[in-house]
Amino acid sequence: CGIIGCAGHEGRTLDTLVHGLSKLEYRGYDSAGVALSGSDVQVEKRAGELDALRDALAESETDLAGSVGIGHTRWSTHGPPTDANAHPHRDCTGEVAVVHNGIIENYQELRDRLTDNGHTFRSDTDTEVVPHLIEERLMAGDDPETAVRSAIERIDGSYAIAVVIADVDRVFAARNDSPLVLGIAEDAHFLASDVPAFREFTDQVVYIDDGEFAVIEADGWHVTDATGSLVDKPVHTVEWDP
Ligand code: GLU
Repeated sequence: CGIIGCAGHEGRTLDTLVHGLSKLEYRGYDSAGVALSGSDVQVEKRAGELDALRDALAESETDLAGSVGIGHTRWSTHGPPTDANAHPHRDCTGEVAVVHNGIIENYQELRDRLTDNGHTFRSDTDTEVVPHLIEERLMAGDDPETAVRSAIERIDGSYAIAVVIADVDRVFAARNDSPLVLGIAEDAHFLASDVPAFREFTDQVVYIDDGEFAVIEADGWHVTDATGSLVDKPVHTVEWDP
């Protein structure tokens, strides 16, 4: 299982994501999916091998496009490997999409509360509470980064999470007990479970630590700690080839 995100490869966001997922195949998975965000958020996802997703993308009537995007290979823990349970998962408005590796321990109580508050769930996953929590914070007036941060503060467990939101040219990410690295290039930024996912585009990497939040956009990136303070992260040069 693995995640990938990219900002700044406009025009080839989808190719970058699918390439990244192919480099993460060694981690094992049962489903794969992508979300691209521009003026809206478009999702394609399938149970099965990456080729099932490639076929669905080839058959799709609309070309998935966006300035930023996220992708996922799933190793199911909550809910069988079906198209509906494949990531990315969305909120009720369809404007928030989330990929997640790991397990959200307190998802049942969050899901019960969100359902009581009128949210409709479309999957059996623990992950789906996250886009609904973000939606709730956006509705309450939080800016996108604050909404993602406050949603993630409400979950317990292990996670590497990446989020896109319609009309926001950034990818938001967080980690606790699941791997997450950033890739830094001149005009594009990446995030992934492992370096090979974006090694073709850069050898400059930033290792995210537990409890940290990261934001990437075409021409910038930043990392904050649990209190919201900026963290001065070292950028490493990776020497090896993928
Ligand atoms: N717990 C999530 C699910 O079952 C994520 C699994 C994973 O790490 O791929 O969908």
